Amino acid sequence: MSWLRLFGLIQLALLSQLAWANDVFFDSLPRTEVAPDLLVVEGRNELFDASNYGAIANSILIDSARGVLVIDTGSNTLFGDWLQRLAERHFNRPVVGVINTHGHPDHWFGNAAFDGVPKLATRQMIDYSRSAGSDLLNTLYATVGDAMIGTQLAVPDLTIGSTLQWGRYLFEVISLNGHSHGDAALFDTERGILIAGDLVFNGRSPTTPHADIATWIQVLTSLEARAPAVVIPGHGTVDRTTASIRETMRYLQWLDQYLRDAAQDAVDPAQLLAQGVPREWRHLAVVDTEFERSVIHLYSAYEAEYTKEVPR
Ligand SMILES: [Zn+2]
Repeated sequence: MSWLRLFGLIQLALLSQLAWANDVFFDSLPRTEVAPDLLVVEGRNELFDASNYGAIANSILIDSARGVLVIDTGSNTLFGDWLQRLAERHFNRPVVGVINTHGHPDHWFGNAAFDGVPKLATRQMIDYSRSAGSDLLNTLYATVGDAMIGTQLAVPDLTIGSTLQWGRYLFEVISLNGHSHGDAALFDTERGILIAGDLVFNGRSPTTPHADIATWIQVLTSLEARAPAVVIPGHGTVDRTTASIRETMRYLQWLDQYLRDAAQDAVDPAQLLAQGVPREWRHLAVVDTEFERSVIHLYSAYEAEYTKEVPR
């Protein structure tokens, strides 16, 4: 046997082992049947890592006579392929449409698995993904590693409108900002089902590097006012109350006030990081890392507000 052939066989063996391991992992993720035609796959409430294959955000499958619509496709082609197979297995129909709630890579990097399938998002999400996609992809290859094999950028090609009819659902598309550049939430008024994207986190600390906190809080107020019966967050378990909306809002209000008070007292960012997160928020997954990111990305703007010009 030639060395080249042996090398090829070893590579094939490694790849099939990887495929086997990631499928077992994806199959182990909790799934919630919100309705017979609406299935939620819950990603781990963790940070990007090789051990979770990047499966850290929620994906939603909605069945109709036309086929299955996927909302958010995960972090890589491996996961997108698995979603495709899950749709076939669960609904006996292929995926024929994709929606991405926003431009963070854990919600759209699985798009490449859906070649030739129309993909929709807000105009801002599309613009952001076009400009930031390559950098985000490099970051994911570095943090998630082998599970990113074969993942290429597949930016959505269609702008989502203000309503969306799929099967028996008529969704109001709520296109707002707050969490990122161009968030979309879907709300089915008749059944009170809210697909919130990352505007709502459940049991996990909100991610804020691209956040406009004041806007985000306003958006959450308007989502809560719709009195949804079911909230499907971007991360964390499906919520059949509105507690996850309120918890996300309370965390953001706390963070805003905490950073504001610290800036007013001229607290050094290093000291703020050393102080860490108060006990009240320690139950949230990945709160230490997210708090650190919030200080790094947001604190200087608060400091600037309170920095007085020195009179000459
Ligand atoms: Zn996000």
